[in-house]
Amino acid sequence: MLAIQLPARLVVRSITSFSSTSTTAATATTLQEIAATRKGLAKVVLKKGKTQIFRDGSPMVYSGAVDRIIGRPPPKTGDIVLVADGLEKPIGWGLYNSVSMFCVRLMQLEEEATRDLNCALDMEKLLETRFDAAIELRRSLGLPSVDTTAYRLINSEGDRLSGLIIDVFGDVAVVASSAAWVEQYKSEIELHIRTMKNIKHIKWRPSIDILKEEGLDITDQTDSDSSMLSEVKVIENGICYNVSLAGQKTGFYADQRENRRLISLISKGQKVLDVFCYSGGFALNAAKGGAEYVIGIDSSSPALELAEENVRLNKFNPEKISFMRKDATEFMKEAASRQKVWDIVILDPPKLAPRRKVLQNASGMYRNLNSLAMKITKKGGLLMTCSCSGAITQSGTFLRILQGAASLAGRKITILRQAGAACDHPIDPSYPEGAYLTNYLLRVL
Ligand code: SAH
Repeated sequence: MLAIQLPARLVVRSITSFSSTSTTAATATTLQEIAATRKGLAKVVLKKGKTQIFRDGSPMVYSGAVDRIIGRPPPKTGDIVLVADGLEKPIGWGLYNSVSMFCVRLMQLEEEATRDLNCALDMEKLLETRFDAAIELRRSLGLPSVDTTAYRLINSEGDRLSGLIIDVFGDVAVVASSAAWVEQYKSEIELHIRTMKNIKHIKWRPSIDILKEEGLDITDQTDSDSSMLSEVKVIENGICYNVSLAGQKTGFYADQRENRRLISLISKGQKVLDVFCYSGGFALNAAKGGAEYVIGIDSSSPALELAEENVRLNKFNPEKISFMRKDATEFMKEAASRQKVWDIVILDPPKLAPRRKVLQNASGMYRNLNSLAMKITKKGGLLMTCSCSGAITQSGTFLRILQGAASLAGRKITILRQAGAACDHPIDPSYPEGAYLTNYLLRVL
């Protein structure tokens, strides 16, 4: 159960309503007026000078930005609250969490509420609006299609639903929750997913550790979908994959779809190496694009079983594509010592900098891996190198790391293309922390 405890530094003041007399400088706003008709709605007042980023749309109100909370009784986790500027004028509303360092997830801003009164202070209506917008956006991007049935339907802050990720894999929706409100509104979320006629199953993959920080212990949670589906077949860029619903992250990295497609376009007649291949995404695209030979490396046996199954599913010639279970560094060192080179190398390591604190250490790891990858790229060949660490992407240091890697390898690089996650992974510029994936295509001379 949720422990309801207010952070000590947040002072709670009691008032009975938000009538104009209680708010010295507040002029009536849409939210103010609606709130006046609701009893017991608390107001989270931000510190002076801490309002703008939330007005701009950043949804995570951290307790350090809060000056005081007005309301009697004090709000409980999950309650709808108003978020107001230093003059107590509402700038939006959101869901309160008494445990998390993010005490409010903003759901709608004042001007949006004015435009769309229907959703104001109404979580069910807001969810409906956000889902409709997300589905419509993907439809306009041509997702799903006959060629691609794996895509991201909801990308957390990028779809204005902070803490909620939904990936669609064929007829399965995988829900990754990292905010208490997502678990609280589980049945409403499922209801909206079920309105999509292609979806038959819903799989929940809560981020247990993050949810603990949100005050939720959900270790014994079971899926409401009783089919216990463990695998599903999807198509991406016209290639079939078996997705394990118990696999890494949501089961499949849909974010690399457009980068994988590029690999299929440039692989004809090339020798391709896919390091950190997981279920074979880049390797399979290279094979489809007519690569002379492709090899994929990963340290995980379940990942490689999927990759091999995917080769069979697509009836690719097993003499042209194979996988090896090996530590990436070991493999590349060995290959470099034997002066083996590939025309195209793909390097897509796991998140090496999970937090900003470990940035320096992780930078060294990225530099060493990239330096090895450059050594085994043919002179004039191509290296597609990725970082899915938000801390690296946001620090803007990846390119410098790559330059360091090049001088360590005694090579010269030029940038051919810089990309991020596929376009079904929108990013809200007011929440730059949403940008995590960087993908460079380099020419290695
Ligand atoms: N390129 C993949 C995603 C890679 S995710 C795709 O397109 O789907 C990162 C992968 O690195 C995971 O599959 C993980 O099993 C693998 N991995 C982690 N540590 C490793 C190591 N030391 N050596 C080789 N592979 C590793």
